[in-house]
Amino acid sequence: MEESNHPLAEETITCENCNNVNSSNLKFCSKCSFPINGTDEDKNKFKIKISGNKFLMAEAEKKPKTAKTIILVLAGFVFLMGLYQGLVNDDLATMIVNLCISLLYLILAAWSNKNPFGAILTAFIIYITMNVVNAFFEPTSLFQGIFMKIFFIGAFIKGIRSAKDAQGHLQELEKLGAASIEND
Ligand SMILES: [Zn+2]
Repeated sequence: MEESNHPLAEETITCENCNNVNSSNLKFCSKCSFPINGTDEDKNKFKIKISGNKFLMAEAEKKPKTAKTIILVLAGFVFLMGLYQGLVNDDLATMIVNLCISLLYLILAAWSNKNPFGAILTAFIIYITMNVVNAFFEPTSLFQGIFMKIFFIGAFIKGIRSAKDAQGHLQELEKLGAASIEND
């Protein structure tokens, strides 16, 4: 007589969400924690959670780019202004200061990949400080290029807001347990 209990014939369930093959006695997929043996309601809840996560993820990825772009534009602007002061107006001191600040903005732009909110806030503080220091030495400088200044301040406010939103989205994702969607 043969034993009918073959261990190889163990029953499996293929996960609807990530196609991982799980043994049928599991409640949740071992890879993505989809409720493979759950009710339709459980499965739908999981799917809704995932699509919500995807939306938040896309938002969180898109927003820091705004902060980075603003910082890069500012770096380019400060760099060009420095060249102009040095080469056209023979003001080497301003040129050197501007080149240093431009470099600082480039470092902040790189940091904005990790911390967009901290980076754009720091860039904003540098920008305001630079203008205040200039105005202290040369009060009329406050009104030079006033439209450019208004433009940059507007851009900063937009960038700070969107970086803050992105940070909020990331925190929400952490709460939802974003790890469960990394596999798909
Ligand atoms: Zn799965």
